[in-house]
Amino acid sequence: MKKLFVILIICTIIAPAWAQKLPRVIILATGGTIAGAGASADRAGYEAGKIPIEDLIGTIPSIKKVADITGEQIASVGSQDMTVDIWKKLAIRANQIFKNNEAEGIVVTHGTDTQEETGYFLDLVLTSDKPVVLTGSMRPATAISADGPKNLYDAITIAANPKSKGRGVLVSFNEGIFDARDVMKLSTTKTNAFGSPNTGPVGQAYDGRVEYYATSTREVQPVKPIQITADTKLPRVDIVYMYADAPSDQIDMLVGKKVDGIVIAGVGNGNFNKAYTEAVKRAVAAGVIVCRASRTPSGRVVLHDEINDDQLGTIVSDDLTPQKARILLMLGLTRSKDKKQLQDLFFKY
Ligand code: ASP
Repeated sequence: MKKLFVILIICTIIAPAWAQKLPRVIILATGGTIAGAGASADRAGYEAGKIPIEDLIGTIPSIKKVADITGEQIASVGSQDMTVDIWKKLAIRANQIFKNNEAEGIVVTHGTDTQEETGYFLDLVLTSDKPVVLTGSMRPATAISADGPKNLYDAITIAANPKSKGRGVLVSFNEGIFDARDVMKLSTTKTNAFGSPNTGPVGQAYDGRVEYYATSTREVQPVKPIQITADTKLPRVDIVYMYADAPSDQIDMLVGKKVDGIVIAGVGNGNFNKAYTEAVKRAVAAGVIVCRASRTPSGRVVLHDEINDDQLGTIVSDDLTPQKARILLMLGLTRSKDKKQLQDLFFKY
């Protein structure tokens, strides 16, 4: 009888602790509109990156039932000011969190302007298959119907869910879940700003639940990663935008600056005019890697279509947007300058 009583006492002490063992999610905050504050609730003007991460978490008290959350401020910038140094800081911290088993998932709060770039960078360099989810908002925290709290709630729910493991880096926005590789900001102001023109979303977060109906089109961690350290120096790769009757001055200027790579946001199937073609020949002769991408938001740039890439010495981005092709080329160039090897990365990653 006495024994039973002791067991009962132990159970009442331990059971609540067991019941409360929630997945641990660390939020790495970088700023953006989600942390933005404006002077008035009914106007668009605001300053990005003003509100600290603790205050953002405070806007969704019920999230404490979903995950055991801690926040770290990595940066406080509007994402138009995102830098390679912040990318490296984020990546190194995220890799360390998973290596030390500090959390089951990570959420990165981020401005929307360059969120797709940071997402893809992390997708390429993170070494764990545990969930990493980026989110942000289109309206600042002080606006009527601010979308940040719901987006943050969903992102934490996704990061805490074991089903999110092994899917590569994800972007969560307006209840949609997107593969960071394929997602793109498609509206300058609307709250449903994100979409994946080629593939569509991979899942949905709704009513506190997470459902997936597609997988990444490419290999995901831990197969994918390209290793970086704090000392990794990323080569310089620039983007040149093609338009009707464009002169080639920008390409020549970049060759003069001795850049390592140029991505051309070509028209249609990565095409460019005669002036560009001559300038590309000069760039290739100078040892610059030139990648043909497209300013058209969906479809792929096909090798040897209207342009014979072998003859011209160019590679193609496949279905990566110019801004993502730039990231893959920068990281790829840390491994090799061989065009065939670089081209393979574009078909694989
Ligand atoms: N300019 C802001 C940023 O990217 C826009 C946003 O977050 O929605 O940080």
